[in-house]
Amino acid sequence: MKEHDMEITLTTTKKEKPKSDQLEFGKVFTDHMFIMDYTEGSGWHDPRIVPYQSITLEPSAMIFHYGQSVFEGMKAYYTDDKDMVLFRPEKNFQRLNKSNDRLCIPEVDIDFALAALKKLIVIDKEWIPDAEGTSLYIRPFIISTEPYLGVSPSSRYKFIIIMSPVGSYYKEGIHPVKIAVEKEFVRAVVGGTGTAKTGGNYASSLKAQKVSEENGYSQVLWLDGVEKKYIEEVGSMNVFFKIDGEVVTPALNGSILDGVTRSSIIEMLEHWNIPVSQRKISMEEVYQAHQEGKLEEAFGTGTAAVISPIGEFFWNDEKLILNEGKTGELSTKLYNTITRIQTGKEEDQLGWIT
Ligand code: PMP
Repeated sequence: MKEHDMEITLTTTKKEKPKSDQLEFGKVFTDHMFIMDYTEGSGWHDPRIVPYQSITLEPSAMIFHYGQSVFEGMKAYYTDDKDMVLFRPEKNFQRLNKSNDRLCIPEVDIDFALAALKKLIVIDKEWIPDAEGTSLYIRPFIISTEPYLGVSPSSRYKFIIIMSPVGSYYKEGIHPVKIAVEKEFVRAVVGGTGTAKTGGNYASSLKAQKVSEENGYSQVLWLDGVEKKYIEEVGSMNVFFKIDGEVVTPALNGSILDGVTRSSIIEMLEHWNIPVSQRKISMEEVYQAHQEGKLEEAFGTGTAAVISPIGEFFWNDEKLILNEGKTGELSTKLYNTITRIQTGKEEDQLGWIT
């Protein structure tokens, strides 16, 4: 499939854009969307950009029953020079195909998907907000659409890209959050779907998230699904600890999502010659480090917040306060560097910008 195979239908009624200081996450969508279909035997076909609109599916469409779906999340920004840029988009499409493989969904052509996305962004470029900290959030996703109640891979799919202007994650400046260590529920197990970005993982995480919010915590720290001993992720972010000068993040063990921000942070730390290791890390180890005054910082990483510093862990009826609840030096430096690269304020030494 080539880019010129793509049919483009522009809207005749452009929507009103929200003011940049009133942007919320994921509630308003741009004027257009990309869509293409898959049919067994024909492969992916009919790529098109059309006005943002509802889609019609039969109630028997497989997505409604067995949840065979995958998605991605990435952002487009305006640089100070008014260039439109994406942050490592090929990584997101590579991960989409990894998720596809796990969910028995046909792969997409990464070059074509990226070309289609660029075209969509150019068409809706007026929707990229330019105030400090704002961006255009991009949500590519694939759903199974065959009308059939048998439990098997669907023979039909839709690949859709929608986009939403989003405000700054830190309107009042970057600030640490309180995290409850989750002891009852688990996010994923090795052999399950934790390494895929599939809707079911998020549906099954809601209960723990709800309970932690009711108890005054903003996210949960997920432990491994077998022993509930080793740390996996925080909320829907990867997690890092700085212990006695060394940065540690759980190794990708088969149940952790391979975050684009996670790998960028690791590359940046290596570039700075700061010791960083990917290994098993238990909550007991974090607790001991805290007791000995060696737990210097902890933070989550993900596309939405980039860096989310952690100010407190609640574990075994104890509160572990980090850094007197303040944002650590490394968290601040990483946040500033990555957001400055994303918006073209700092040289893109590691070749992350498209
Ligand atoms: N873990 C989970 C479960 C996530 O949903 C996300 C967000 N995609 C991440 C980690 C962070 O990934 P990324 O840095 O690619 O946004």
